[in-house]
Amino acid sequence: MRDFTGDHSALALNTATLGHNVDGHGAGWSPEQVIDACAQRGYGAITYWRREIGKRAVEIGERTRAAGLAVSGLCRSPFLVGPLAPPTRSAVLDDFRASISMASDLGASCLTICVGGIVPGSHSMTESLKQVREIVAGVAEEAQSANVKLALEPLHPAYGGNRSCLVTVRDAVDMCEQIEHPALTVAIDVYHVWWDMTLGQELLRLGADRIAGYHLCDWLANTQDVLLDRGMMGDGVADLKSIRAAVESAGYEGYCEVEIFSALNWWKRDPNEVLDICVERFRSVC
Ligand code: ZN
Repeated sequence: MRDFTGDHSALALNTATLGHNVDGHGAGWSPEQVIDACAQRGYGAITYWRREIGKRAVEIGERTRAAGLAVSGLCRSPFLVGPLAPPTRSAVLDDFRASISMASDLGASCLTICVGGIVPGSHSMTESLKQVREIVAGVAEEAQSANVKLALEPLHPAYGGNRSCLVTVRDAVDMCEQIEHPALTVAIDVYHVWWDMTLGQELLRLGADRIAGYHLCDWLANTQDVLLDRGMMGDGVADLKSIRAAVESAGYEGYCEVEIFSALNWWKRDPNEVLDICVERFRSVC
């Protein structure tokens, strides 16, 4: 297991940690401000959200790399199915392709996929996952040509209804095996997997080549809002070192990306303070 106590070059920032994923939240820093603040503190990479990038994907990608940072990812695909997905299959595919194209222009290592919830009226995980599989399989070759890895992110089962019918690493590995395409990978997020006693064995089944990212935060024992009340590492109940040990036992050596949605706490603070505390916690408790 890697030792981060004196080295945080593997630390990446997901800009959702500064509230940049939701309108009306966060300090509203420009990408340039985020890049400079991360570079000054020795972060290794940044993952952006599409709403920050607009039409500046190439420029922001270059600016990030010029500051000595990598672009660890882009969030995210549209919801592919379920009540929050665009209204038609063709609208889903258009937006999915636009997100792949932006990730490619940005030079992002991967594009996160949040698959969406249960197909309305279906009452069926099986049918919903089948439709997700069709959509993902349909764009995998285009992603490969664009040099973008598609990172399926299983979400906590609390999101099963509206945001993700993909709720376990097991099901994500199964989907990779069913589609069997080299562009397809999985992102592992502490918030979504901390409770899962089968995580270690499923990660071994997944293998390092198919782990696109490792996302850090914590699960607060008294979570107030399942979407927007994630904890800072060390403030919750997740066994962070054991989870990272499991990810690294599967061979993962990539970035560890802090991704904290926190309307109730961290988004209200000065981003400079948040970035400093992420470094400190990464070195001490992750
Ligand atoms: Zn995540």
